[in-house]
Amino acid sequence: MEDLNKANSHIVKILSVEDVTHNVKRFTVEKPLGYKFIPGQATDISINKPGLETTVGPFTFTSLNQSEYLEFTIKIYKEHDGLTSKLSLLNPMDELIVHDVFGTIRYKGPGVFIAGGAGITPFLAILRQLKLENSLSGNKLLFANHNEDDVINKAELKYILGNNYLDVLKAPLNPENRSKTIDKALLKAYIGDQNTWYYICGPDAFTAAMVDHLQNLEVLRTKIVIEE
Ligand SMILES: Cc1cc2nc3c(=O)[nH]c(=O)nc-3n(C[C@H](O)[C@H](O)[C@H](O)COP(=O)(O)OP(=O)(O)OC[C@H]3O[C@@H](n4cnc5c(N)ncnc54)[C@H](O)[C@@H]3O)c2cc1C
Repeated sequence: MEDLNKANSHIVKILSVEDVTHNVKRFTVEKPLGYKFIPGQATDISINKPGLETTVGPFTFTSLNQSEYLEFTIKIYKEHDGLTSKLSLLNPMDELIVHDVFGTIRYKGPGVFIAGGAGITPFLAILRQLKLENSLSGNKLLFANHNEDDVINKAELKYILGNNYLDVLKAPLNPENRSKTIDKALLKAYIGDQNTWYYICGPDAFTAAMVDHLQNLEVLRTKIVIEE
């Protein structure tokens, strides 16, 4: 069979668009025949409309490889004149172009997942796969967001991880929730033994700060997994 992952691009129809939060949408799209990826990987996406085909942005598969469809969970930046504001205007039957599969975030063993906002997407795929394989033991998630309304797929993540899910809200709307950030003191409580992996995904500044905190807590750089 032809290795389609080596081909440059595939035109796929959007099957559904749903709101996940006030600024995050879930796109379910056709999956090209033979297209393969592992949880945590991503592809470049563009819109198959005149003038937009060459504007690409990277997005992570939140569906699993065995699914019949591809799913993307995308934070929309309405204020940027960029790809995501154009994606937000699309409807079922519109077409996307998906490109080669890439990405360095992949599951290596039990550990602490540290996500900031839309940085949850590779972990959503990895945790869904681990749940399916009944292999969640030893994994924890620290999920940083601005407030309750920004949390992506909270009910599902809480269902998957139970008490190993921690919401970290900077500016909670509910006065009963304390303002928190993922800092060195919080991370200290989650440092495991030498075999523990630390998976980080979020805005560049968030990732850099987390790597810094972990290294200050004497975690080896080789045990830290980031997109690079
Ligand atoms: C490997 C990888 C996987 C990713 N997976 C996902 C995912 O699954 N889901 C997800 O939501 N995101 C994901 N991202 C991030 C995502 O690719 C970007 O957030 C997205 O491309 C930004 O789109 P945009 O519409 O803001 O365009 P941008 O390219 O960021 O910006 C477009 C234009 O907007 C203007 N602009 C930029 N910043 C501002 C600002 N602050 N105010 C006003 N204008 C501004 C600039 O002039 C720019 O030309 C991933 C990133 C990587 C690297």
